Amino acid sequence: MKKLLTPIFMALMVACSQSTEIAYRDLNQNGTMETYENPEASLDQRVADIIPRLSLEEKVSLVVGTGMNLPGMMVGEIEDKVPGAAGNTRPFPALGIPSMVLADGPAGLRIEPIRDSTSSDRFYCTAFPVATVLSSTWDLDLVEQVGKAMGNEVKEYGADVLLAPAMNIHRNPRAGRNFEYFSEDPLLSGKMAAAIVNGIESYGVGTSIKHFVANNQETNRMTVNATISERAMREIYLRGFEIAIKEAQPWTVMSSYNKVNGVYTSQNSELLNTVLRDEWGFEGFVMTDWFAGDDAAQQMRAGNDMLMPGRPEQREEIISAVQDGSLDEKVIDTNVGHILKIVLQSPSFAGYEYSDQPDMRANSDLARRAAAEGIVLLKNEMALPVQSEQKKIAAFGVGSYDFIAGGSGSGDVNEAYTVSLVEGLEKAGYPVDNTLKGDYEAYIVTEKAKLPKKEFFFTLLPPIPEMALEDAKLKEMADQSDVAFIGLSRNSGEFQDRELAGDFYLTAAEKDMIKKVSDAYHSVDKKVVMVLNIGNVIETASWRDQVDAIVLAWQGGQEAGHALTDVLLGKVNPSGKLPTTFPVVYEDTKSAENFPGENLPGVEQIMMGPMPMGYPSQVNYEEGIYIGYRYFGTFDVPVAYPFGFGISYTSFDYSEVKLSGSDFSEEITATVTITNTGELAGKEVVQLYLAAPDKNLDKPSKELRAFDKTGLLTPGASETISFTLKARDLASYDESQTAWVAEAGEYTVQIGSSSENINASATFSLAKDLIVEKVNKVLVADQEITELSSK
Ligand code: BGC
Repeated sequence: MKKLLTPIFMALMVACSQSTEIAYRDLNQNGTMETYENPEASLDQRVADIIPRLSLEEKVSLVVGTGMNLPGMMVGEIEDKVPGAAGNTRPFPALGIPSMVLADGPAGLRIEPIRDSTSSDRFYCTAFPVATVLSSTWDLDLVEQVGKAMGNEVKEYGADVLLAPAMNIHRNPRAGRNFEYFSEDPLLSGKMAAAIVNGIESYGVGTSIKHFVANNQETNRMTVNATISERAMREIYLRGFEIAIKEAQPWTVMSSYNKVNGVYTSQNSELLNTVLRDEWGFEGFVMTDWFAGDDAAQQMRAGNDMLMPGRPEQREEIISAVQDGSLDEKVIDTNVGHILKIVLQSPSFAGYEYSDQPDMRANSDLARRAAAEGIVLLKNEMALPVQSEQKKIAAFGVGSYDFIAGGSGSGDVNEAYTVSLVEGLEKAGYPVDNTLKGDYEAYIVTEKAKLPKKEFFFTLLPPIPEMALEDAKLKEMADQSDVAFIGLSRNSGEFQDRELAGDFYLTAAEKDMIKKVSDAYHSVDKKVVMVLNIGNVIETASWRDQVDAIVLAWQGGQEAGHALTDVLLGKVNPSGKLPTTFPVVYEDTKSAENFPGENLPGVEQIMMGPMPMGYPSQVNYEEGIYIGYRYFGTFDVPVAYPFGFGISYTSFDYSEVKLSGSDFSEEITATVTITNTGELAGKEVVQLYLAAPDKNLDKPSKELRAFDKTGLLTPGASETISFTLKARDLASYDESQTAWVAEAGEYTVQIGSSSENINASATFSLAKDLIVEKVNKVLVADQEITELSSK
């Protein structure tokens, strides 16, 4: 029934000088176009026209997804338009409303690459650098471009909504999905998410910012109750989402699995109606995470518009709740309206003829550029960049050869290839020692053959142990080659948090390899460069003195090896900065005291049908707002590498900070000039922290309030950067007033190249306490927790 406008209608509409409403009524009189089909009508009008046409059963079949088709095992109710997508919405063919396709994920589109083994057609997607790499770039324009490239693949492969970005806070280094998330800091997370959403959605496809909220661990993720103070919720866990909603208005939000303060997030009206819609003005629809929550009718009331992937029992529950009067049908209408508003904007509704041929070449070039921009140089003692005469390279470590593009689970991408460090070097004309390479490659094949088969796409296989190195071989390598690289990889993903032994901490074999390689090379006065191909923080303090350089490549996607080579050879001057702190030991992280919480006594694992959902458990966020650098800096706990840290092959000078005034009224502007004082062109990430007075409220010693990245500065060149702070940037959340409050007193603007390296500062004052924004008293903790305080 959905038709294209005929030329006559087009002419009619152009000719009609009256309001849009009259225009589409005229068309209706022709009997050929319904209001909901009329692109000239407002979305609200079109949606209002559809709802009365749907029966209760039809409406309920829209708010509950159509099930999930697993590769090779059709279990959903409709066939996937895009095989390997995570879910679909219910189509209404009689109304010309198609199914919308929802597909993961944060590092690029995840779909089935091989649909028919007899055909040579392939549907690979670009594995972009993971979120932690993107945030390490601190470059919002670049991240927006990555978003555009992702949008291109989503649209050209026939999907409508990308289930990304994921933006939970790095609360603890053991959290298995941190690689999918941006940062320990909500400003950096929120800005990154907004940039990527704006990029993706500029293609006319949607996003789903997730997991709203506090999905900060995988252990018992589907059942755990996180007890979090209102203040920590507002300042840390909600803040990034608030920024993303206000700056990018994503099409959808995905609620999380866990409970917060006693209520499943997908069943919490305070969270989804009061905060998300009323306070922040969210206009799209909310979907659950896959199989989340335990009360479909309550999910409806809470404003969780769509239940994914959708189970038949959920439909029955909702229909009986409407029939017994415990659920008002108007609630369903509202939720249906939210969903339809997005469906009407989707490429599927427009009948977009996707090509199955995104611009893979351009996208992989961009993936390479982004991966290089996100590389963080942690240490460099005259080892890098590799000089053109250092042609003989020996690559040690399984990680040099068997590179990890991104973590596992729904955040993984089915890419055509992954460039390893060694392949990157070879392509650039720096082949590594061939016999050593042969040894490693044979070893990797043998060890991989011993691994169990992957049961599901999200199964995380154990890592290959490090290969033992013989002393004679090491001596020979050190004599024959100019420089040694050691590659170390880590993988993690959905369903499990990371172990400390052998994951956060290095294995004995890895430590032994670092020591032996370093001793051998240093004895002949040659350098050792450590390359970290990891998705999350590891311990570095115990071994870092043994190597000459440490390059943190994170998990840079399919082009990681090329990107790394660009940095190692100096083609790209590293400019990435840490979006998350590297502690000295795990126990230094404050949340280590209660991560991942405790199973509640005497209760069995909760099952959903045959699916285990974890144990009822409890985690108390006793560190409150003191996450990451907010904790380390305020409580003077030494770290291995601070938040915001990263070095360059050049150096920068910071001028004095100039403030636009010394008293704050509406806003204040801080200006600083950065000069490249070294010998190579480079970029600097300039970070503005604010130290606020702590009259009545506890305050971290400083908080990131703004950041920017210079352009490529040639030696001697300068760039002036200005940051404007508004009242909200000065404010903290005051539970007693249920408001964002800026306290009177002296504020210090601290501008630097990391949270611990402040190069210039200036002060201004605020004469009177300022209630910046009153909000609702919601999400109150369900039990007393003793929260950390600096007072
Ligand atoms: C993950 C989500 C993902 C969904 C669909 C869930 O297990 O938590 O991030 O989008 O699956 O694949």
